[in-house]
Amino acid sequence: MVRVERIRKDLEFLAGITSTPGEGVTRLAFSAEETRAREYLRKEMEAAGLEIYQDNAGNLFGRREGTLKDAPVVMFGSHIDSVVNGGAFDGPAGVISALEALRVINEEGMETVNPLEMVVMTEEEGGRFGSGVWGSRAMAGIVSEDEIYKGTDSLGITKAEAMESFGLDPASVGKARREQGSIKAFLELHIEQGPVLEQNGCDAGIVESIVGIRTFFVTVKGKADHAGTTPMDFRRDALVGASRVISEIDAIARRAGKGTVATVGMVNVRPGAFNIVPEEVQFSIDLRDSSEPVIEAAASEIKKYLEEQCSSRGLAFSWEERLSISPVRIDPGIMSIFQEVAAEKNISTHVMPSGAGHDAMVMARVAPVGMIFVPSRNGKSHCPEEWTDYDQVARGAEMILGAVIRLAD
Ligand SMILES: [Zn+2]
Repeated sequence: MVRVERIRKDLEFLAGITSTPGEGVTRLAFSAEETRAREYLRKEMEAAGLEIYQDNAGNLFGRREGTLKDAPVVMFGSHIDSVVNGGAFDGPAGVISALEALRVINEEGMETVNPLEMVVMTEEEGGRFGSGVWGSRAMAGIVSEDEIYKGTDSLGITKAEAMESFGLDPASVGKARREQGSIKAFLELHIEQGPVLEQNGCDAGIVESIVGIRTFFVTVKGKADHAGTTPMDFRRDALVGASRVISEIDAIARRAGKGTVATVGMVNVRPGAFNIVPEEVQFSIDLRDSSEPVIEAAASEIKKYLEEQCSSRGLAFSWEERLSISPVRIDPGIMSIFQEVAAEKNISTHVMPSGAGHDAMVMARVAPVGMIFVPSRNGKSHCPEEWTDYDQVARGAEMILGAVIRLAD
């Protein structure tokens, strides 16, 4: 049996390892705080009978051998880095439930056919170098030289330098890559970071897909004129055109389907003065859905509306795609294993998409993946108020435990 008091002790201990005491958890990748958190985890992993190793990207593993030599591994875990002034559960909930599942397997002396490995991923948030899901991308073999040697943190330190101070050789990150077929399944428990489970009164979310993301950067160009002397009919006001488009983006997302979300989170207006007609407006679009064709259709509808508005108002525009991540289907076999485990352990579940990206999304490139969500109080995350009851984490850990045993048997 999973023990909630151990989960509580682990999570409380990790919550105390922050560079911003009293202002939430700040634990950036390759930092002194991450080192301290890992020292604690290494001790606990050893006590659970695990064999510990670290890969060339900095991911930390605890392995328990299976009975079949060279069988593919069943891997499960999450990350322990955080955003600045973040919460105590985003990441650690998944790492600690993996640890607790392995403690139980160790205590009960269970044997599995496949080896088991818990993983503590490095720099999932991208809070320090802006290059997130680093650990899983290294395992999937999709990291770039530029992000290692060129990108820096706020103090001008490159990722390569930070890795060296962490005892890693940045030139050998490629060795962290995992072969296709070497991982039988990858499971991740994560906090929901939204209000759905709490509103439905469910213990756990069984993730069915991880949404795809498209982002665009739009510039609308008009003409700067005097706010007092230019009659309305003579204006080419970039902000009026852009704001029509921004309102329509909201309407398009609402019409597109139940899971579609669209956000304009950044707007720049130039010259930005009380008494000058706006000449140029730049804004961002963040568009997400579980279905690629739905994203595609919404994006072209937005672009068409932008073209119409601009041509009728004498405005020019540019449309630039910044990011395109395809949606990820979760392995249906793993979803039904989660369903079976939940039924057996009396855990109420809700099947849902994940609106945020996670390491599991990247791991889907090398292995079948499964994800479990546990409820987030008031849907809050990436802030000090982030909270999940310890017994809710424990029920999620039961789901991981049950699924791991089935998958490795
Ligand atoms: Zn996370």
